[in-house]
Amino acid sequence: MAPRRTSKILKTFNKVDYKALILNDVLCPICRSILIEPVSLPCSHGFCSSCFDGTMENANLVCPLCRIRIGSWLRKAKKEAKLVNEELWNAIKDKFPQQVKNKLNGIDEDFEEEPEIIVSYPGEIRKEYQIQKQKEDEEFRKKCEADIRASEELIRKIKEEEDFEKAVLEEKLKLDEQVAKKIGRGICVDQPINF
Ligand SMILES: [Zn+2]
Ligand SMILES: [Zn+2]
Repeated sequence: MAPRRTSKILKTFNKVDYKALILNDVLCPICRSILIEPVSLPCSHGFCSSCFDGTMENANLVCPLCRIRIGSWLRKAKKEAKLVNEELWNAIKDKFPQQVKNKLNGIDEDFEEEPEIIVSYPGEIRKEYQIQKQKEDEEFRKKCEADIRASEELIRKIKEEEDFEKAVLEEKLKLDEQVAKKIGRGICVDQPINF
């Protein structure tokens, strides 16, 4: 879900300048449209009274959003018949008469899709992240390739040196062999030959 812009009013439902209300302040988190007969909980979360009653059916006595306990508040509000925040309800009817009318007439309005309330589309953030990630992956891949090339080069050099040493050694062995042969022959020559 796209993050919703809300004014600070939402946090202080109970002592608020209702003239400053914006539509996002008065949307019910349950039915996602304008609050009808709003119930303002002590935690400042607000619900339509019918939506709130719906969640209260399982008698959890907690705020459906933040789960704080509202048992004693609820008992008191019901006893005093002050469950509906009349002041807020009047302000909503006053400021958003059309939306209230539509809602009461059963016309669904999807307030979530209003372009101005969307700070950034989730997809955009993901796209940015993916582009950044691709860049990093590419850099990492290039670095790996460079490392591999460098080590291949090193191995090649070592091998060349080894080959060289081997060649030298072989050459030396050959020479030694020849020397030995010569010496051997020499020895033979030096030996008295008896025919
Ligand atoms: Zn509702
Ligand atoms: Zn709450």
